[in-house]
Amino acid sequence: MFIIDPHCHMVSRTTADYETMALAGVVAISEPAFWAGFDRSPAGFVDYYRQLTEFEPKRAAQFGIDHYCWICLNPKEAEDLGKAKEVLAEIPKFLDKPTVLGVGEIGLNKNTPNEAKVFQQHVQMAIDTWEKSKAAGATGGHHLILIHTPHLEDKLKGTKWTLEMLKDFGSKIDHSRVLIDHVEEHTIKIVKDAGYWAGMTLYPVSKCTPQRAVDMIEMHGAERLMVNAAADWGVSDPLNTHRTMLEAKKRGHALETLMTVFYNNPARFFGQCPKFKPRPMRVEEVRE
Ligand SMILES: [Zn+2]
Repeated sequence: MFIIDPHCHMVSRTTADYETMALAGVVAISEPAFWAGFDRSPAGFVDYYRQLTEFEPKRAAQFGIDHYCWICLNPKEAEDLGKAKEVLAEIPKFLDKPTVLGVGEIGLNKNTPNEAKVFQQHVQMAIDTWEKSKAAGATGGHHLILIHTPHLEDKLKGTKWTLEMLKDFGSKIDHSRVLIDHVEEHTIKIVKDAGYWAGMTLYPVSKCTPQRAVDMIEMHGAERLMVNAAADWGVSDPLNTHRTMLEAKKRGHALETLMTVFYNNPARFFGQCPKFKPRPMRVEEVRE
């Protein structure tokens, strides 16, 4: 079966990881812009965006994987509003690149007022810069948006605040064009009930496990739900998405459910951007 991994930080992974993922059926990866483990200068961000849009697609293509990315200033570096202003001025230049799906991963990290301000500026940018794409024939009201939610004790408060801020944009925000990531048991329901797409992030330690992810699929349904490995420079594993699929298989879930969560849902969400090529598949196509 084919898999689309909706959230992996491949700049931190080896070329051997691409090969492993390709051997395990990964056909496409979406890579949000994130924190490098240290704070960068505005010029460092431009270099990073070039790496995401120029180098990574080539590295992935060696293994037949389509590589897509998202551009933003990550929440961890949003505290310095002067720097944020400079970096945000560079982002529109990258949004129309051939493999850029939208603005992300934006959001809150420690739930500070400055993080909230920069989050709102990014959302406004996704709306304001859409006109050019629209003129090129794209449909929808704004660029796709990928949202990071804080971890541990900050998660519930941060998720609720994020939803409130999105609500303030009113009809300018199309809920079907927003993916809210790192949901857990106490946040998945409010995200799905509000009509957004939800992503579950698997980590080998401390956070969501394959067992917990499958429990959440069983409790909340496969609709508008995705699973990702979020592999990055920390302790992480690009095959955790597969481990979740294996856990679902062991519990007897139908091929159709597996296809929905691990391939068709990402294909449907990302496919709202015409640059994303993999199309949803029917279960018969996989059985053939
Ligand atoms: Zn991430």
